[in-house]
Amino acid sequence: MPAIEPDPGAGAVASPAAGPRAEAVIDTGAVRHNVRYLSGLAGGSGAATMVVVKADGYGHGAERIARAALTAGADRLGVATLDEALALRAAGIDAPVLSWLHLPDEDFAAAVAAGVDLSVSSREHLAAVLAGARAAGRPVRLHLKADTGLSRNGCPPGEWPGLVDDAVAAAVDGTAELAAVWSHLARADEPGDPSIDAQAERLRSAVAHVRGRGITPLVHLANSAATLTRPDLHLDVVRAGIAVYGLDPVARPQDSPLRPVMTVRGRIALVKTVAAGEGVSYGHEWVAPGPRVLALVPLGYADGVPRRSNDRGRMRVLVAGADRPVVGRVCMDQFVVDCGAPGELGVAAGDQVELFGTGTTGGPTAQEWADELGTIHYEIVTGISGRVRRTVPPTGADGRDR
Ligand SMILES: *Cc1c(COP(=O)(O)O)cnc(C)c1O
Repeated sequence: MPAIEPDPGAGAVASPAAGPRAEAVIDTGAVRHNVRYLSGLAGGSGAATMVVVKADGYGHGAERIARAALTAGADRLGVATLDEALALRAAGIDAPVLSWLHLPDEDFAAAVAAGVDLSVSSREHLAAVLAGARAAGRPVRLHLKADTGLSRNGCPPGEWPGLVDDAVAAAVDGTAELAAVWSHLARADEPGDPSIDAQAERLRSAVAHVRGRGITPLVHLANSAATLTRPDLHLDVVRAGIAVYGLDPVARPQDSPLRPVMTVRGRIALVKTVAAGEGVSYGHEWVAPGPRVLALVPLGYADGVPRRSNDRGRMRVLVAGADRPVVGRVCMDQFVVDCGAPGELGVAAGDQVELFGTGTTGGPTAQEWADELGTIHYEIVTGISGRVRRTVPPTGADGRDR
């Protein structure tokens, strides 16, 4: 376990009353709560916990999430790309890291030298990874990925014996350690779907083949949804992503034991009153039905507020403690909120607006945004762009463990 270091995002906050133009507040206390909950479930089945921090920790900051997760008892980290794995190493994080999505001609020597576990799905990938291990002068820890029915990455059953032959040969000659056999579920977020058991059964066959060669690898299959709903599939390691960020893939937010980690806020740049009949934003898709107070919020689709947010005119944000509609088209850098008739709501330039958050303040959640937009909360949080400053409340305020 690495030493606990100061959170890289801590101290980035201005005075809480002011705050930046736009911020994604990252509650690392909630991360720790979620990881303790998930690793408690996994531990109950004797499984270790891998926390997935790909895509910059689902938009929350990979390094800070990794540190918070490791502090709270995570055993391993998982990422999609080598760049993501190497960035964790460059930040001084020395916990086991698995990287799983590669081109066959990537710099595997650098990854092996950095002690990154590598997933392979084909003989071609394995040969490239083994060449990297020889160049690095140390064995690579392999996670052989079986395609058990997602038909995305992973080795199909017909090619599995050949891949295992090559991996066993590499283990015998010391180029590799056959650390794990694993797979990924297609429909874990639909508990009871028969494909889940079918995939688990195919994974068992793939593992049996490896055990038949005298090797006993770790086995992992469960993502967040299966971690939450299928203790029998925890196996040796669970790979928890979205649940770490407090977004439940199976339960509604109000029924979830998880705590959302990200709150996106902006501050009002301008407040004005327009007359009845005035059109608002490009295309004048919304026309003031009477004299209206409008608040201009300086976040737009370049910040990750989807332009289609207002297609149905139902997107709402929290302004001055009230749930108010976004009106007119969302632009690249800004959108407009209808604050009602003059005098209805006490609202001023500089006030904070909550776009989505924990659901405990009266504002919308990432789940509600996703529902409005016909997508999933994963896409909402990972879509918040780099222009939105990530801030971390000092521990003891929002970051406090509850
Ligand atoms: C992203 C990912 C996960 C995590 O999935 P969640 O649904 O976010 O828990 C696990 N395994 C693999 C292979 C992934 O790509």
